Amino acid sequence: QQMRTSVPEILAIGDAASYRHWFTGGDVRLESVQNATDQARLAARTIIGHADNYSAVPWFWSDIGDMKLQMVGLIAGGDSHVVLGDVAENKFSIYHYAASRLLGIESVNRPGDHMLGRKMLGAGFSPSPQIVATGPDGLKAALAAFQQAEPARAAG
Ligand SMILES: Cc1cc2nc3c(=O)[nH]c(=O)nc-3n(C[C@H](O)[C@H](O)[C@H](O)COP(=O)(O)OP(=O)(O)OC[C@H]3O[C@@H](n4cnc5c(N)ncnc54)[C@H](O)[C@@H]3O)c2cc1C
Repeated sequence: QQMRTSVPEILAIGDAASYRHWFTGGDVRLESVQNATDQARLAARTIIGHADNYSAVPWFWSDIGDMKLQMVGLIAGGDSHVVLGDVAENKFSIYHYAASRLLGIESVNRPGDHMLGRKMLGAGFSPSPQIVATGPDGLKAALAAFQQAEPARAAG
């Protein structure tokens, strides 16, 4: 949780590190710039004596041709999904669920969906597929209502 290995004086981060992930409950090894840099910050805090747990929301970003690909969360184990936007236009997001829990969002040329997704997952908010289907405005309103009802949890 603090990026220490089985030899506590040795820390491991980034592509090389497999660790028990707070979001999945299982061991994961993530290859992304976000994971490497967030773990580096936490490892630095560990070295200077803090004992925070690693709790960053995983996200990934890449530009490929005219496509801005963005992902947030971890979608392994998903069993259903909801699509927002227009697949034919190459502007869409896929919201992945395991039962009623939102696992993650994959977006193509919909950066607003990605940023809102990071806020939702970071706050511990899992909107229902019905709320997702109402689109970004409905999601923003539902997140605001959730944060008002559970301000301590939403503040992380
Ligand atoms: C082709 C490609 C495209 C990618 N695209 C994206 C992307 O679009 N978005 C994204 O988020 N992530 C992307 N990634 C993943 C991202 O680059 C990695 O997750 C990230 O760089 C991991 O950082 P790191 O510090 O763990 O490892 P690295 O960046 O690999 O750094 C490890 C360093 O250790 C050095 N090293 C290795 N062995 C030794 C040794 N024995 N002694 C001293 N130094 C050593 C290496 O030279 C290297 O500089 C991509 C990766 C690849 C390969």
